[in-house]
Amino acid sequence: MRKVYMDNNATTRTRPEVAEAMLPYFSEIYGNASSIHQFGRAARAAVDSARGKVAALLGAGSPEEIVFTAGGTESDNFAIKGVAAALRSKGNHIITSSIEHQAVLNTCKFMAKEGFDVTFVGVDENGVVKLDELKKAITPKTILITIMHANNEIGSIQPIEEIGKIAKEKGIYFHTDAVQTVGKLPLDVKNSNIDLLSMSGHKLYGPKGIGALYIRKGTKITPQMLGGHHEMGKRAGTENVPGIVGLGLACELAQKELATESKKLTELRDRLYNGIISRIEDVRLNGHPKNRLPNTLNVGFKYLEGEGIILNLDMEGVGVSTGSACTSGSLEPSHVLTAMGVDPAETQGSVRFSLGRDNTKEDIDYVLEVLPPIIKRLRDMSPLYESKKK
Ligand SMILES: *Cc1c(COP(=O)(O)O)cnc(C)c1O
Repeated sequence: MRKVYMDNNATTRTRPEVAEAMLPYFSEIYGNASSIHQFGRAARAAVDSARGKVAALLGAGSPEEIVFTAGGTESDNFAIKGVAAALRSKGNHIITSSIEHQAVLNTCKFMAKEGFDVTFVGVDENGVVKLDELKKAITPKTILITIMHANNEIGSIQPIEEIGKIAKEKGIYFHTDAVQTVGKLPLDVKNSNIDLLSMSGHKLYGPKGIGALYIRKGTKITPQMLGGHHEMGKRAGTENVPGIVGLGLACELAQKELATESKKLTELRDRLYNGIISRIEDVRLNGHPKNRLPNTLNVGFKYLEGEGIILNLDMEGVGVSTGSACTSGSLEPSHVLTAMGVDPAETQGSVRFSLGRDNTKEDIDYVLEVLPPIIKRLRDMSPLYESKKK
């Protein structure tokens, strides 16, 4: 049976050339990057080179603004808790949105329990943060605005340039979770008003368990991982040299291929959507119709449960997910679709197709062949669909 992986917003396949580049750093160049002998210096050189590649992809002013972490979740935690700790005497108010990834959402909820005031700004029907609401939320006590660059469930791109400007005017730090956009959309942290940016290796064809936090020079942040003087004193722990090497190469390759990949993915994604709406009725597009990640298509199939569709697609070799991995297993509707005001009955039948660099036109056509009969079969069994027909 054909195997089609369309869950690239959950994770991507590490590129073979990236995996290969990492191998010597397990077996031959195994020194501790902090050691001063030749074994350590060789590892240090690899870490420094990778730091430069990550900095280049983000448009950072200098490589020292990149701190390696264990992934997107750690970067988000570090940014929020680190700024909150450093600026506690200045204020205790944090602004975020209601559609953030759990790594930001749950960290903000934790901060609220720790005595911080947190405002969760709403979004419009396209899943875009309401700027007027955000502006109104700002108080003299606001120390941090954390808003994601693009949403992982629906792909909607947030107005981070405008948010950065607003934050800068008020002297508030701006953090963005760009885990879904690094390598997919052009970024220029130096010339936009982003003070902190989270990224993760395994979302851009690099390895799992490695990520980075961009910290603009001069930003006040308290380390959250204490120990030795690693990562310019900002994040203790012996560097994950193979992971860092893999992340560096993944960034270098992403930068080279960004424009062509983005065009290819947009075409494939639109072929999939046009194919779906020409074959299946009662379908809704979740997310911004245009200003969306090139690889992300979230569609709601009315009268159905997303889980059922996913299990049936799985039996045909197709890997997709409901909006978030975190709500699977429960019947909790997606917090993102709910925040967008989607009818609770309609949030249930949503499926996210997130394409990647390995997908082909043939993959799309295969999905368009197997999906319509699944939807028909499930709808024929659905009591909701029955009552609609009457
Ligand atoms: C995947 C993801 C994360 C978490 O990154 P990990 O490296 O898996 O910890 C954070 N934010 C967004 C938007 C994501 O998609």
